[in-house]
Amino acid sequence: MDRPCVRVPREAGEETRQELAAAGLLDEDHRIVVDDGTLYLPVTDPDAVDDSYEVVYRDVPVHDQQETPADRLDFDPSYERLGDVAILDEDDPDRARDIADAILESDLPVRAVLDRASKVKGDLRVRDWDVVAATADADEPVTETVHREYGFEYLLDLSTVYFSPRLATERHRVTEQVESGEQAVDMFAGVGPFAIPMAARGATVVGVDLNPAAVEYLRENARRNGVSDTLTAIHGDVRDVAAEYADWADRIVMNLPHSADEFLDAAITLAGDDCTLHYYDIQHEDDPFGPGEAAIREAATGYDVEVMTRHVVRSYAPHELNVCLDVRLSR
Ligand code: SAM
Repeated sequence: MDRPCVRVPREAGEETRQELAAAGLLDEDHRIVVDDGTLYLPVTDPDAVDDSYEVVYRDVPVHDQQETPADRLDFDPSYERLGDVAILDEDDPDRARDIADAILESDLPVRAVLDRASKVKGDLRVRDWDVVAATADADEPVTETVHREYGFEYLLDLSTVYFSPRLATERHRVTEQVESGEQAVDMFAGVGPFAIPMAARGATVVGVDLNPAAVEYLRENARRNGVSDTLTAIHGDVRDVAAEYADWADRIVMNLPHSADEFLDAAITLAGDDCTLHYYDIQHEDDPFGPGEAAIREAATGYDVEVMTRHVVRSYAPHELNVCLDVRLSR
C-alpha cells in the first residue's frame, strides 16, 4: 500500500531523518527506501510535515520485514551464521562474492563473510578461510566473533581454533544430561561449547586442548559465562594430562571423531568407578557404531560396558556418518 513519504536527495537523508524523528513524524513501521539517488522517508502525518519538504506517496516495505540475502539474489543462498560472521562453502569465487555482497547489504547483522578455503586440518582441526567481504568498519581480525548458543557466549577466532555451529543441538543433548556435583572431563575442549554448559549445570569441569589459542579462548569464555571457579582449562596433549586426573571423572566427552579410538586409553585412565563416556566417531553408514563400540570394549578392561545411546549426529560425507555413543562404564 502506498504510504506518505518525504522525498529528498540521498545527501540530505540523514539530516532529514533526524528532523522528522525529532518532530515525531518518522513512520517507524515502514522502511526508508533509496531509489536512484533519492531517499523516501515514510511519515506518519503528511499534513504535519514542514512545507519545505516534498511529500509523495509510494510503496515502502513494512519495517519488520527484514531484507534477506535472497531478496537481493535470484536464488536462496546457503550460509551459516557464527556471531556476526557469515560462513560460505562455495567453489565459485564470483558466486561467493555475489552472496557475500547480498549478505552485507541485507538486514542481517553480519560484519564479515568468510568462505571455507580448506578442510579442517591436522591435530588442531583448524581450517583456512578466505575473507570474501567485510563491512568498512569491521574490526580486525574479522575472523574473530562472539557466537551465542543456548544462552552461552563464545569468543573465538575461526582462523586459529575449531568451532562448528552445526553441533549446537548435539552439544545441548549431551550437556543437558549433566547433574550438579559431577566431575567431568572434556578431553578435546576447544573454546568450551561442552565444558562451559557442563560447568554451568554445576559440574566441576576439566577442559583440555592441544591448541594454545583454544585454551586462551576457553579461559576467556569461562570468565564470560561465569564458570571460571569450576572450570579448569589445561593446555596440552590429553594423554599427558590424564594421569593427573586418574580415576577422577564421572563423565567424559571425547569430541575428536576421526581419531577418538587413539585416546581411549587416556579416557580409561580418567574414568572413575562409574563414568559416562560420550564417544564421537565418523564411520561408514553400513556399520556406524560397531567399530567405536568394539574399541571401547577392548580399552575398558576392568569395566562393565553398557551402550546407553547410539546416536547419529549428522551426515558427514556421502555414506559417512558422524555418530555418538553414550556409554556407561561401571567398575
Ligand atoms: N569440543 C570442541 C567443540 O565442540 O568445538 C572442539 C572439538 S575439535 C573437533 C577437537 C579439538 O581437539 C581441537 O580443538 C584440537 O585442538 C583438540 N586436540 C587434538 N588433539 C588433541 C590432544 N592430543 N589433546 C588435547 N586436545 C587435542
